Amino acid sequence: MKLYNSMTRKKEEFVPIEPGKVKMYSCGPTVYNFFHIGNARPFIIFDTLRRYFEYRGYDVQFVQNFTDIDDKVINKANAEGVTYDVIADRYIKEYFTDAKGLGIRPATVHPRATETMDAIIDIVKKLVDNGHAYAAPNGDVYFRTKSFAEYGKLSHQPLDELQAGARISVGELKEDPMDFAVWKAAKPGEPSWESPWGQGRPGWHIECSAMVNKYLGKTIDIHSGGKDLIFPHHENEIAQSECANGCTFANYWLHNGFLTIDNEKMSKSKGNFFMVREAAEVYGYETIRMFMLSAQYRSPLNYSEESLMMAKQSLARLYTAAENLQFLLDHQTGDVMTETEQAKAASFDQYRQKFIDAMDDDLNTADALAAVFELVREINTAVKDPNCTHAFVQTCFDRMMELCGVLGLVDHLEKKTIDSEIEDLIAQRTAAKKAKNFAEADRIRDYLLNEKGIIIKDTRQGTQWSYKES
Ligand SMILES: [Zn+2]
Repeated sequence: MKLYNSMTRKKEEFVPIEPGKVKMYSCGPTVYNFFHIGNARPFIIFDTLRRYFEYRGYDVQFVQNFTDIDDKVINKANAEGVTYDVIADRYIKEYFTDAKGLGIRPATVHPRATETMDAIIDIVKKLVDNGHAYAAPNGDVYFRTKSFAEYGKLSHQPLDELQAGARISVGELKEDPMDFAVWKAAKPGEPSWESPWGQGRPGWHIECSAMVNKYLGKTIDIHSGGKDLIFPHHENEIAQSECANGCTFANYWLHNGFLTIDNEKMSKSKGNFFMVREAAEVYGYETIRMFMLSAQYRSPLNYSEESLMMAKQSLARLYTAAENLQFLLDHQTGDVMTETEQAKAASFDQYRQKFIDAMDDDLNTADALAAVFELVREINTAVKDPNCTHAFVQTCFDRMMELCGVLGLVDHLEKKTIDSEIEDLIAQRTAAKKAKNFAEADRIRDYLLNEKGIIIKDTRQGTQWSYKES
């Protein structure tokens, strides 16, 4: 499998640290609100990457954090007159509601910053001890950016260029404008934790470094997030972790491209900033997932009514095909495929291969979806044969669901049950035929066809029915 590594700016063959295992870390949400549509993209993409690794037989350890202490969380708590944890608990719960809807599986671990305080203090202590960080007189602790010669290697910016843009804000007791806070001294009225530098709370970047250490180790295979996190967040994570541990932090850095809304950058001031929850109410969660997978993850992706409607239709095509197969599974017989069917089933391998080739090429979900639709088209045609065997239909269904499952699609397939009225009518028609009342039998058959869209077929096994194709 090849993955584009933001660090080397190349597609590279993925080689795990330990054969058969993947250690992945993805930056999660700050829990002070519902998550917005732009954030849904990395969550869906990296969930898909994890699913694909599992499909290819890897044992995946996937960690995604919750930033539950931060200015935004504190401000929201103050505005509502509650403690920070009330806000955090509420929006962690809402995260899981939206994530479930979007088919995003829970990570192996979802650490919270406030529950990782020991590991955070440990790493800050290490950095202070080895001179890469220092405590200011007021209790803030800063990372000494210039002490890390490789700073800027992920964002490919030379240190002196970065330096030109750096400023010291009023009240910050930094040695150098480039330095950043790893620990913040407590301000009056704010939640705080005990540390060797007095009461305080962690800076944002340090929690990810500490959580990677705690749950995955010093070096991980993949670190991922939105492109907007490359600088300064991921750059700072690298500086902290590599200076604390003296080894490479992550072997592959994956970043998804931006989502635009009606071809404009998403922003609160433009009024095009909205939550997944709102979009799901209009289009449904799974449509949003289908939409996010319709482009390769590094490409820009534009959210518009048109693109969402297209995703909705594509998804409906998959559901229609799957429901038709389920229906046929209930009605076709024959445990052994015919030779023709066996040949057909073997020909489906090419679509699986296309799917794998696309996913192996830096997770190209757009091409992988195209392979799924080619397979579905072939299946739809193949099962039109009224004599196709149950065994063949089962194979078609399994093949289709195998690939959809990797993408987390067609996750809400429900078995369509024939309603009892139709069952009754079919029984009445059978009775009428037995009594040689053919006029009545025909009337019921026509009623089912014209009013219910049900086609009746008399076979040696009894009466079978199917939905009329619309
Ligand atoms: Zn992070």
